[in-house]
Amino acid sequence: MKIFRHRIDLVTTAPIEIIDITAQIREIVAGGGVQNGLVTVSCLHTTARINVNEREEKLERDMLTFLKRLVPRDGDYLHNLAPIDGRDNAHAHLIGLFMNSSETIPLADGELVLGEWQSIFFIELDGPRPKRGIELQIMG
Ligand code: ZN
Repeated sequence: MKIFRHRIDLVTTAPIEIIDITAQIREIVAGGGVQNGLVTVSCLHTTARINVNEREEKLERDMLTFLKRLVPRDGDYLHNLAPIDGRDNAHAHLIGLFMNSSETIPLADGELVLGEWQSIFFIELDGPRPKRGIELQIMG
């Protein structure tokens, strides 16, 4: 079995942002030399997430509205009284409870196995940030 690792660095530009990373992952997978196995996409942060969902402009706006309504930014949160990370970001940690920090995608004949409507998203919950990291591990 081969294990191939790759780090993706991202810049985010909004407080809550959905970034489609599918094409970037496909490109990395194509250069990795593994034909069949698994690709794990792992977010290295507690206020950002990885999610597989549909890329459609209006739905993306619905998702942003939903996340903002789900946990309002200006709630009365204990974490914001003395944040060890220097940010008033309790809302971002709380939204993160409902998504995964990683997703594992099957790899078959050198291609990601995704459904017709599936894309892989990096979801920023406490942006903007100059540097966000994603670890890819391709095993097979
Ligand atoms: Zn925090």
